[in-house]
Amino acid sequence: MQLLMIGTGNAFSAQRFGCSAIIEGPIGKVMIDCPDSLPMALRNAEKKSGWKIDQLAITDLIVTHLHGDHCNGLESFGFLRWLQRRETGAPLPRLHVWKPVADRLWERLAPAMDQSGAAKLADYFEIHLLNPDRETLIGGMKVSCRGTQHPIPTSALKFQANGKVIAWSSDTPFDLALIDWLSKDADLIIHETSPPPTHTPV
Ligand SMILES: [Zn+2]
Repeated sequence: MQLLMIGTGNAFSAQRFGCSAIIEGPIGKVMIDCPDSLPMALRNAEKKSGWKIDQLAITDLIVTHLHGDHCNGLESFGFLRWLQRRETGAPLPRLHVWKPVADRLWERLAPAMDQSGAAKLADYFEIHLLNPDRETLIGGMKVSCRGTQHPIPTSALKFQANGKVIAWSSDTPFDLALIDWLSKDADLIIHETSPPPTHTPV
C-alpha cells in the first residue's frame, strides 16, 4: 500500500485542503473523504508528489462522516462522474460508508443534486455499507471500521494488505480506546488533530 495525503486542514483552515488521502492498494486507488475544491486539491497533491491522479479513474471512495470539510466535494465528484457515465457508459464510483452516514447522505446532497426532483443517490454513486463487525474488501485491501466519539456518526478505518496495516483515526476526541484499536497491528497511524473537545488537541 502507498498513501498520499491530499489535505490536512480542518473546517476553518485558510491554508490547507480538508483532511483527505488516497491509498493505493493492490488493485486500485481508494480515496478517503472528499473535501472542498477537490480538483484543485488533487492537482496540488499531484504536483507535490509526482503521483498521477485521474479523478475519473477513482473507483472507490470512503466517507468517514458528513461534516463539510470531509464531504463537501461529493457534489462535484458526483456530477463529474454522472456526466462521464452519460457520455461513455463508465461505471459509477463505489461509495463506502457505514449505515448511520448512508441513512442521511442523500438528505445532505439532494438539495443540490436532485435534478428535476427525480434523481436519487443511486444515480451518482454505487453505495456500499461498511460493517463494524466484519472486514470489507476495497481496492484489494481488507478494510475495517469503528465508530468514534465525534458529535455526529463518524468511522475510523484500518486498511490491511500484504501483511501491512494503515490506520486512520478520522475526527475524534482524544480516546485511548480508539488509539488501542488503531495501534493494534498498525504499521502507520494517521491521527487527526484540531481544537478539543470534539477533536484531539496536539
Ligand atoms: Zn468532523
